Formats: sequence, structure tokens, C-alpha cells
Amino acid sequence: MRVAVASFEYEGNSLSLRVERRADFVRIGIHEGPAILRAIEGRDLALTGGVHALRDGGAEVVPVFAAKGGAGGHVEDGFFHEASAQIIDGIAAARPLDGIYIAMHGAMICGVEKDPEGAILEALRARIGPATPIAVSLDLHAHVTPRMAQAAQIIVGYETYPHVDAYRTGACAAGLLLRAMRGEIRPVTRIRKYNAILPVLGGATLDDAPMAHVAAQARAIEAAGRALSVSYFPVQPWLDMADVGITGLAVTDDDPAAAEAVAQDILDAMWARRRAFELPAMTPPEAVQAAMSMSGRVLLIDTPDAIGGGASGDAPALLAAILAHAPQAVSALCIVDPAAAARAFSIGEGAEAEFAIGAWQDRRWFTPVTLTARVERLCEGSFTYRGGPASGATARLGPSAVLHVGGLRLLVASHAVYEHLDEHYAACGVDIAACKLVSFKNLMNYRKLLGPGTGFIALHGPGGTPLRLQDVAWENRRRPWWPADDMPAPEPIL
Ligand SMILES: [Zn+2]
Repeated sequence: MRVAVASFEYEGNSLSLRVERRADFVRIGIHEGPAILRAIEGRDLALTGGVHALRDGGAEVVPVFAAKGGAGGHVEDGFFHEASAQIIDGIAAARPLDGIYIAMHGAMICGVEKDPEGAILEALRARIGPATPIAVSLDLHAHVTPRMAQAAQIIVGYETYPHVDAYRTGACAAGLLLRAMRGEIRPVTRIRKYNAILPVLGGATLDDAPMAHVAAQARAIEAAGRALSVSYFPVQPWLDMADVGITGLAVTDDDPAAAEAVAQDILDAMWARRRAFELPAMTPPEAVQAAMSMSGRVLLIDTPDAIGGGASGDAPALLAAILAHAPQAVSALCIVDPAAAARAFSIGEGAEAEFAIGAWQDRRWFTPVTLTARVERLCEGSFTYRGGPASGATARLGPSAVLHVGGLRLLVASHAVYEHLDEHYAACGVDIAACKLVSFKNLMNYRKLLGPGTGFIALHGPGGTPLRLQDVAWENRRRPWWPADDMPAPEPIL
């Protein structure tokens, strides 16, 4: 059995101004041919899990192309076409093949192509013909489209958020592919979708969270033998497209009607819990004042500027609130502002100057905050993730500066990088253990830092990843949709 493998992973966001080009993907990782296998070994990636499962099943793996971005606005059309051609041409050139496995995020957007994964899979299917099975693994926040489900017989989404099961998901998709190649099953994938989007902040699959119950139901359906695989997609909500909505998905053995029924059941399980996704949040000034009256360390979660959701990471609203309401509190805050970092480099360590911080890329909601600070440290901000989906990967904040103002260590980075724990702070010598207030621009990983003596407050407000989805001036969503409209019954998209 010969299986071509590829990956193209990126999470888009219609509200973000970021445009990701080849260089942005190169920073996280682009690999071709056998170099892919070396790059993914020892990682917790879906592609790694898929490759291991295929080899364990006796298949010959033909690595074609792998590109991993983070999250941001849209992928520049030129790079999208270049990457998709490398995947499609590379797989076509690898024939004869018995199967294909591709790891995708599933919520990519481009300038022109609004369904990039669907376009790649449809073109690939047209090129290789109907016989060769295609398996795809997706992120839990994927925007799954009918084109994707039509072109790929097998689609499997992550089960967990925080995402800790990318490897398992890739192995699961590859496992079904092996069974299909051996002729044991004839998999079909079906999706069902409602016109509803849910706050990412409330989407954990931990403990008693609403998605934990949805996950348990999916596993029970599989255990009962109603489907080969069941996935649920609360979806990346910051996509301004009419067909974006929560999605149920099922893979069955040659039974499309059963797949539709299971997809419908798991979709209804999400819909039934939609109100439980709403979590309390405060404006930045409210949050800083409330945190100062709490005991212990408080993590301030800047949900509207979440880098992992595609925001630019340059919103200075929380910085302004700390300077106004707790200027002497020992605190740490990281913000993206390459111009301010460059200014710090130009004046050097130990020098004091006036800086205009934040709203570097995105001035739709904020203007820069002016402050006088001392340059405490200059660094290149490289670090290796100590866990999570990017475990073992190296990230680069780029030229970065730690500015000291009052009790605040302000880490000014050149690039927006995915936050896991406090690796980015530690890389620049900022010790968050000693802090009363610590700012994070992620929506889930901060939970790993909670515990005795450490609490959190989530913020709400304008930004590239706003918490309150009903407050956004969407151009393309069709009414009625949840949560803007409190519909008595769900509105199907599919
Ligand atoms: Zn995700």
C-alpha cells in the first residue's frame, strides 16, 4: 500500500488585517519530500500521528508537501496557489497510490478563494479520479464545507480543546484509511450544519464544560457502532461567510443516510448547549480593578486580541487599563509592536525614552498608548514550546524588548506568535511567578496555569477576536443566526 501524505494548516479570521505570506509559513515550517518526515518526528502533530499509523499498518508513506502557519487573517492568494499546486501536482506525480492522507486545519481563508480546503480537495479528487480514498484530519474549529465532505471519504476532527489530541486524530484518520485500502470498509462522510456560532472561550472539552458532554456523546455513538467516526465542529466563529456555522460530521461504512442521521444528532447536542458557552467577562478597566481586589496572582485574558484566534496581538486596551488603575502592581504584559521594539534596539538597554505602544497594525479600535519606559532588556525571543499542539516546535518573537514602567514589565515583540504557557515571557527573561497581574492573548491555554493562588478574568471589548459575536458588524451572515437572534428552532445551513 502506497500512501501520499501532505499537510496545509492555517486558521483564518475575517476580522484580522493580517495577511500571511510564504515567509510567515516558512517561519513556522514548510517542508518538501523526505525532509517532512525528519521535521515532524517527535512532534505531536496530526501528520506525525497519521504517518506513524500508516507505517504501523504496513503502508509505504510518500511525503509530498507540508506547510504549517498559525492563525491570522487570510493567506495571500499567490502562496495559496503555489502550495495547493505543490500538494496536487506532488500527489499526482506520486502515483500509483492506494490512498492519500492530508492534515488540514480546515478554517483557512484566502483573498479570492473562500473555501480553500474544499478547493484543494475537489481539484485533487478531479485529478486522481474517484477510486483512491482520501482521508483528512481537521482542527476542532474547522469550517467544514460540502465540497470537502464530497471529495474526502474520511474526515476526522480533533476531539479536545485545549487541543491535545492532534496526533491521535491523525492516527485515527489514517487508521480508517488503512481499513478502506484493505477493502474492509467503504467510508462515506456527511455533515449537517446550523446557522450558529459559539464563543471560543466557552468551548473547552474539560470537566463539565458543554463541549465535554458533546464529546462524550460522540464517543458513545462510536462505541454503539452507529458510525466509524463522529466529529463536532463548534467552528472558528470569526469568519464572515454565510455558510459558517456549527457542524456535526459522521463517517459510516457505506451508509450515507446513517452518516447524516449521526451528524444531525451530534449537531443537535451542540445546539442544545449553546447558552452554556457564554462565560462572564469584563472590560479592561473593570478587570484590572477587580483583579487588584482578588487574592493571589490573576491572569488577565485579553480575549478580543487572541493571537491563536487570528488577532494581531497589538491591542493596547489592557495596557492602558493597567497604567491607569494599577501602575505599581508587579505585572507582565506582552504586545506585538515591531516599531516600538526597533526603537528600543536603537536606543539600547538601560536607556529611557517615550514610546508609542500598540495599535501598530490595527487602528480600527485603538490608538497607541504613549508611555515613558526604560529598556530593561533586548532579545531575539526564540523559544521551544513545552507542550500543547506545537510541542517541540521553535517560535520566534523576533527582535523584542522588555520595557520597565512602574511595576510593569512590558514585553514588546516583533511577531505575533501562538501562546502556549509562559514560554514567550521566559524567553525574554520575564518571570511571571512574581507577578500580581499577567496578561495573555490566548483563549484556552491559560487554563493550564490556573491553580491554587492563580485565578483569571476574561476581558471583552472590540478586537480581531471579540468574545461577543453578536456585537460584530458582519457583512455576510444571514439572519436569523445564533446568538444575534434567539431563534425558537435552529436554522439549518445544510
Ligand atoms: Zn482550534
